[in-house]
Amino acid sequence: MHELSIAENLLELVDKYRAEKGFTRCSSIRLRIGLLAAVDEEALRFAVEALTEGGPDAGVSLEVERTFPLARCSCGNSFEVQDLIYLCERCGSTSARLSGGDELDILHLEVD
Ligand SMILES: [Zn+2]
Repeated sequence: MHELSIAENLLELVDKYRAEKGFTRCSSIRLRIGLLAAVDEEALRFAVEALTEGGPDAGVSLEVERTFPLARCSCGNSFEVQDLIYLCERCGSTSARLSGGDELDILHLEVD
């Protein structure tokens, strides 16, 4: 499962920061996830909950900021893509070029 390995990587990073900064508990993680990263938010929450259970970060809250790619169509129209299936509202083309929206970043950790 894609989300499980993302959660594992995420918590490894938290542990790395913990070793560097010397905090006890991470209480909140703020993430930026782009549509094209194709992350199921519920599955990610579930994986983080399962992996932190019984440890110092149990109950950590996950705040997710979603981002969406910008499509530029050959007809000159540009628009934000909210869904993986998209078409240009102006000309109906499905081949607009996408940029951005593939982020998977940690923005902020709240620690005690
Ligand atoms: Zn178009």
